[in-house]
Amino acid sequence: MSTSPTQEILRQVFGYESFRGPQQAIVEHVLAGGDALVLMPTGGGKSLCYQVPAIARQRLGLGTSIVVSPLISLMHDQVGALHEAGVEAAYLNSSLDADEAMQVERRLLRGELTLLYAAPERLTTPRFLALLDTLDQRGQLALFAIDEAHCVSQWGHDFRPEYRLLTVLHERYAHVPRMALTATADALTRADIVERLQLEGAQHFISSFDRPNIRYTIVEKKDGLVQLLRFIEREHPQEAGIVYCQSRRRVEEVAQALCKAGLTALPYHAGLDSAIRQTHQNRFLREEGLVMVATIAFGMGIDRPDVRFVAHLDMPKNIEGYYQETGRAGRDGAPADAWMVYGLQDVINQRRMIDESPADESFKQAMRGKLEALLALAEATDCRRVRLLGYFGEQYQAPGAGEACGNCDNCLQPPGVRDATELARKLLSCIYRVQQASGLSFGAGHILDILRGKASDKVMQHGHMGLSTFGIAASHSESELRAVLRQLIALGAVAVDGQAFNTLHLTAGSRDVLKGGVQVNLRESVAAAGSGRARRRAPTASAAAAQLDAQAQIRFINLKAWRAEVASQHNLPAYLIFHDATLAAIAQSAPQSLDALSGISGLGAKKLQAYGAEVLRVVAC
Ligand code: ADP
Ligand code: ZN
Repeated sequence: MSTSPTQEILRQVFGYESFRGPQQAIVEHVLAGGDALVLMPTGGGKSLCYQVPAIARQRLGLGTSIVVSPLISLMHDQVGALHEAGVEAAYLNSSLDADEAMQVERRLLRGELTLLYAAPERLTTPRFLALLDTLDQRGQLALFAIDEAHCVSQWGHDFRPEYRLLTVLHERYAHVPRMALTATADALTRADIVERLQLEGAQHFISSFDRPNIRYTIVEKKDGLVQLLRFIEREHPQEAGIVYCQSRRRVEEVAQALCKAGLTALPYHAGLDSAIRQTHQNRFLREEGLVMVATIAFGMGIDRPDVRFVAHLDMPKNIEGYYQETGRAGRDGAPADAWMVYGLQDVINQRRMIDESPADESFKQAMRGKLEALLALAEATDCRRVRLLGYFGEQYQAPGAGEACGNCDNCLQPPGVRDATELARKLLSCIYRVQQASGLSFGAGHILDILRGKASDKVMQHGHMGLSTFGIAASHSESELRAVLRQLIALGAVAVDGQAFNTLHLTAGSRDVLKGGVQVNLRESVAAAGSGRARRRAPTASAAAAQLDAQAQIRFINLKAWRAEVASQHNLPAYLIFHDATLAAIAQSAPQSLDALSGISGLGAKKLQAYGAEVLRVVAC
């Protein structure tokens, strides 16, 4: 079988056996000089889509490829990784002083670079454009790759006005192929990218946004922190993960609690000093088994591939946020968890934030709709993946015969569904009676006490034992009633007044439920049954090492120790030297010669030459 030049590069430079998904089609198209729009989920392998054609075009004498990237830390790591693979690359951004920048410019003009990474604001300066002009006149501009292309769109959350200036690339260098890459899926952003970056003539490569290696689990919040600890200890001891919380204060509390429980955890939120944030981020990228507890301020540009879990201790605002945050797990394709606990309080908080925001009513209505969609995902009893992808307009294609994914909590342990409309009506009439009797409104705790027939001090004080709804739901548990209330809030049949101690009120929507127009369904709580369920894999120090026997485990540990040393010498995250999966494969096969070593995925020619002998030595001892 003959190999194409691009396959040869994939093998020789990156040490990978085959392209993934649409990579090959993209690479060939761009190599041939075509424009491309590439939409691929996080972890899909976007970098290779421009790195391979860049190397190929350089080898054809077509010069340097320019990569536009908004994130300094990412540029640094990407260039570091390319060096490790033996590719000449550099970056120009504000982290360089004038001298260093000048040196990069000289190398560029001498034709030494295969790839140059630049921030958009740098690229569009007259000085830089003059450099590009020079290269262009010599026929040495091989390709423009615009990474994180959604930054051009003001619909997205990462709008960067500098991206708008990139139209100059098309105007000045129309004959140089251009590709735009992003992991942001929605149609509005996509259309905006095409328009703003003038990619009307580009071929579109749109991947499925499914992340098959991520297992989605959403459970009811009881004692959230304890549930989280149990989850980490059981499923991901000593593995890297991110825990998202709603507020800064909560981030601090949770980070402390995890540390107290013996984990290595760091806080990250916008209230921390920027130097501290930077240190924590670097530690997260470089250390093993570190848990980052963070607000949504953390995550953009984090491309650590072996994040094994993303946990939400509080419910995010909408499915877009949930999908983006959970997407940071498992970029390496190995099994990873997206785990969330949610409860009534989350729904109340999110509703209140929307209600109290200064936005206009139509915007608030849209936000409420998005929150409801997320709540519906949380309360769903069918496949989470089908719903998640459906929300983004994609119809899930199951790999097997069935329609469901087999890798979410509902697929693995289908929950029962129950009609709870009757109970919902009791709850609504209780809110009504209380209001009618006392002319006052009360919060969830009090209403539930009355329903369950609990004679609390407050119930006694207000004489609410005498109400006809006192004790009418005595046979139901509090958590069941809370689940019903969550549904009612999500449906808009109960309103929570955030200005007045989160008191509950009936709404126009309450009638539909009371009159029988709307059915309220509840999932049977799997949380109660879930504590003893069998797990898919035994806890190990690393997913990649899960299958190793005892001898191989020891080799794996030794290899990791060696890698940590090399990484710190090179000031790079360990995974840029070798992935865990590569080390595990080496540990497993225990190669005794360079030849045997070269067959392992992730070992390109340069790494073999640089590290081969040492790796063999580590394996042998
Ligand atoms: P993205 O930018 O799309 O999130 P990356 O380009 O960072 O993804 O790639 C994710 C991971 O997958 C990286 O660690 C990369 O080395 C690996 N990868 C990409 N393509 C391949 C391939 N064809 N074979 C093996 N590993 C790959
Ligand atoms: Zn499923």
